[in-house]
Amino acid sequence: MKTDIEIAQEANLKPISEITEQLNLEITDWEPYGHTKAKISDSLLEKFKDRPDGKVILVTSINPTPAGEGKSTVTVGLGQALNRIGKKAIIALREPSLGPVMGMKGGAAGGGYSQVLPMEDINLHFTGDLHAITSANNALSALIDNHIHRGNELNIDPRRVEWKRVIDMNDRVLRQIVIGLGGPLRGVPREDGFNITVASEIMAILCLSTSLEDLRERVSRIVIGYTYDEKPVTVKDLKIEGALTLLLKDAIKPNLVQTIENTPAIIHGGPFANIAHGCNSIMATKTAAKLGDYVVTEAGFGADLGAEKFLDIKTRAGEFDTSAVVIVATVRALKMHGGVNKDELKEENVEALKAGMENLQKHIETIEQFGLPFVVAINKFPTDTEQETNFIKSWCESRNIEVALTDVWANGGEGGIELAEKIIDKADNENQDFQRIYDLNDTLETKIRKVAQKVYGADDIELSAKAKKQLVFYEQQGWGKLPICMAKTQYSLSDDPSLLGRPRGFTVTIRELRPSIGAGFIVVLTGDMMTMPGLPKKPAALNMDVTPDGKILGLF
Ligand code: ADP
Repeated sequence: MKTDIEIAQEANLKPISEITEQLNLEITDWEPYGHTKAKISDSLLEKFKDRPDGKVILVTSINPTPAGEGKSTVTVGLGQALNRIGKKAIIALREPSLGPVMGMKGGAAGGGYSQVLPMEDINLHFTGDLHAITSANNALSALIDNHIHRGNELNIDPRRVEWKRVIDMNDRVLRQIVIGLGGPLRGVPREDGFNITVASEIMAILCLSTSLEDLRERVSRIVIGYTYDEKPVTVKDLKIEGALTLLLKDAIKPNLVQTIENTPAIIHGGPFANIAHGCNSIMATKTAAKLGDYVVTEAGFGADLGAEKFLDIKTRAGEFDTSAVVIVATVRALKMHGGVNKDELKEENVEALKAGMENLQKHIETIEQFGLPFVVAINKFPTDTEQETNFIKSWCESRNIEVALTDVWANGGEGGIELAEKIIDKADNENQDFQRIYDLNDTLETKIRKVAQKVYGADDIELSAKAKKQLVFYEQQGWGKLPICMAKTQYSLSDDPSLLGRPRGFTVTIRELRPSIGAGFIVVLTGDMMTMPGLPKKPAALNMDVTPDGKILGLF
């Protein structure tokens, strides 16, 4: 069997100018980044403001397991399938972070015959957006420390600087550090730490902004920490919103590439869905909606994380509708939810599959609570048996749930035609009664409780002493009307990664809150969630190489 990179390297990519031509873009609407990548102008949304919007189809999934779900693969495959049945569809995905690329096996550019290309570039440095975000974030850190060093006119309490430095790598040793050691010439010592770039507020801002002007406004609102008398200090107080916006002026432009079947794909912004809001940028989704009749977009991890935040945060900020949802499930992952070990997934086990269906059931209920039409997509793996896929099909059919077996990994768009037809039918014909999980007027505590109970299936939440104090303080600051961005493990519906399937009778521990006032939400950390991941025992980096003539090896 060929690897993803071998398949990718054999593909016939068109010059990016042919893709822009296909989209009827004028030369001033885009800039080439090499032969097969482009940036689309951020003024395109304004130019096309009177054009009707294409319909947005969201791809989400059950809770991921190490067995892999293939949400990106299905997103790409569905986009390709829609084009095969004559629909003008555009894919909108997140850009990968180097942390997981070097860490876990599995890229973020789809797989098999449903990939976005050039996958090597997309998975590595791409068009430099993550570099720009890292630089803007760290420029702010440097300017904060310089301000404190140079007399601290704003009276910033060095013990209460919340703004962290970032790097786009899994690097656990940087989680907690002390800076400024070595005497007066080396600044004012204080505790600091690094987050991974994709968890930074700048990444969230880039993804939630609707224009460069909006980005500037959001950057100026960032709260970096507090004064000695506990007043919030903002980027605006430091007078550096202009410089930070400048560093992001190209990063805000959506990136255009193509799939293995030359379907246009916009890949832009990449917050993780466990420790951040998990969706590609609003600029990308809206641009795609102006250029196509259908946008197929993905939100990270399971419907408890990515989809909840897509529907409660992203569609609120971007003021757009979602027409239908695809819920991806795999036989392998459902068997793991039903108690099978990772090493035994190849063997047929309908009993375990049956037990694991509870996990899918909960995510279906979540999408039903949002009132959106959906189709379950079974992402077929080579090891699945007919008995197993038939079981899922009849489980769905007996509940009147639309289901499609998709084989886009092995067969590209051709393998997704049934899914394409079914999802179009839902998006075009089914009435929806869209409702969000919480109201913005709810208190922060009520919002957290509603997500925990309605989406995770928890009995209740338990607040740490710190979280309780923060809730009071945040409401006093006037931040109580913001949406919440839950940081929770992706592996379980609960905050305990070891509880697979559909846990019941549990309480979600709320450890700490963090204000992301520029992004426009409050981050809620549950369980042991950390905003800087570590590398695994056998990092994917061990398999990678490049030949003297530049050929990349082992990148998935
Ligand atoms: P997700 O978006 O859910 O994280 P991806 O689509 O990125 O998942 O897929 C993760 C990995 O699993 C990729 O390496 C991909 O090639 C592989 N994969 C996905 N679907 C299939 C499938 N149906 N058969 C075999 N491998 C698959």
